[in-house]
Amino acid sequence: MHDFHYRHETLYCEDIPLERLDKEQGTPCYIYSHATLIRHFRAFDRAFASVPHLVAFAMKANSNLAVLRLMASQGGGADIVSGGELFRARRAGIPPDRIVFAGVGKSRREIRDALDAGILFFNVESSAELHTLNDVASDMGAQARVALRINPDIDPRTHPYISTGLKHSKFGIGAEHAVETFTRAAALPCIRVVGVHAHIGSQLTHLDPFVESLTKVAALIETLKSRGLPIRYLNIGGGLGITYSNETPPDPTAFADAITPLLRQTGCDIIMEPGRVITGNAGILLTRVLYLKETGAKKFVIVDAGMNDLLRPALYDAHHDILPVRRSPHAPDDTVDVVGPVCESGDFFARRRTMPAVNAGDLLAVMSAGAYGFTMASNYNARPRVPEVLVKGGDSFVIRERETFDDLIRGEHIPDFLEARA
Ligand SMILES: *Cc1c(COP(=O)(O)O)cnc(C)c1O
Repeated sequence: MHDFHYRHETLYCEDIPLERLDKEQGTPCYIYSHATLIRHFRAFDRAFASVPHLVAFAMKANSNLAVLRLMASQGGGADIVSGGELFRARRAGIPPDRIVFAGVGKSRREIRDALDAGILFFNVESSAELHTLNDVASDMGAQARVALRINPDIDPRTHPYISTGLKHSKFGIGAEHAVETFTRAAALPCIRVVGVHAHIGSQLTHLDPFVESLTKVAALIETLKSRGLPIRYLNIGGGLGITYSNETPPDPTAFADAITPLLRQTGCDIIMEPGRVITGNAGILLTRVLYLKETGAKKFVIVDAGMNDLLRPALYDAHHDILPVRRSPHAPDDTVDVVGPVCESGDFFARRRTMPAVNAGDLLAVMSAGAYGFTMASNYNARPRVPEVLVKGGDSFVIRERETFDDLIRGEHIPDFLEARA
């Protein structure tokens, strides 16, 4: 599943003890395993070997240039959601014809940049966006290839914040308006409708919602064909879940086995946008215990990483396993809240967690932090963002440096009228 494991009671990433990375980089620090990243990408890619496909990695999960370059080297592309992600993907060397662009709020500038770059297609989320796209393409004398994102009205049975395919969701075009929207889109002079897109949510641990959704989408593609609207690409989105604690999501092979018959039936080239399943368990956040604190009601373990470094517990009440970097077979268990230094009650990594007792100065690994970890990090409380390190066998590479205090104020200006008088 991943390449973080104990040797002689000490936690390693591949062949490097995390204690060594702490000496070199300090804490907090994100650490990714190259072997895990490659294995997860290949497992996903290979599972779909029997259909023509492109794995467009959902880079909002992890957009470090080195991680993206690794995806590109394996034949992968990128699912982008902003002009900034387009910039990153291009800088990482992802060919434009392997980039697809989703999101409900693309600006004219972002659309222009993506047309300029020559991306594979836009995943369009509304009629209004379609008209803007047509407009911008027309100004540029270009044609915009689009896949329309369908909202199949499926409950993915995951956290509400990461459910995207229910009727009340802001994403996609209602299935009942699909044929009409496709027909109108095809009539726009600078739009070429080439695909259908559906992405129903994230961290899905059951196959049924995928199958239900794709059954609806496959039927829609049939209808479109019969109306003379041939569809070349089916973009099935991402969303396959991972094990954070005791979930048992299907592996990529089981996922592929369940949906490949439906994919084949469409005769389309398949685009897939996995994010979490590729990088989630390939990364950890290394942190150090600063203080232990007991109030009448609770015991707190205060660590040097905060919600600004890893937002998932605060945002989704998400579970992350927390492992001691040096474990002792004799450590008694304790029930504690593991919290950060940020001035918010939501700044926690675990609440009422029973885990081996720790001391100030101990290193802890917050597991499964490789997806939606660093990409959601902020400078809240004026905390510099932490470094990212890639481990490959016995070598480690700093793929992003720790920010400095100067980085915190870069681009800020004090207007003259505020200049001190005295
Ligand atoms: C977030 C997102 C993904 C990736 O989701 P994962 O759960 O990380 O696989 C794929 N496609 C779209 C459109 C998304 O918004």
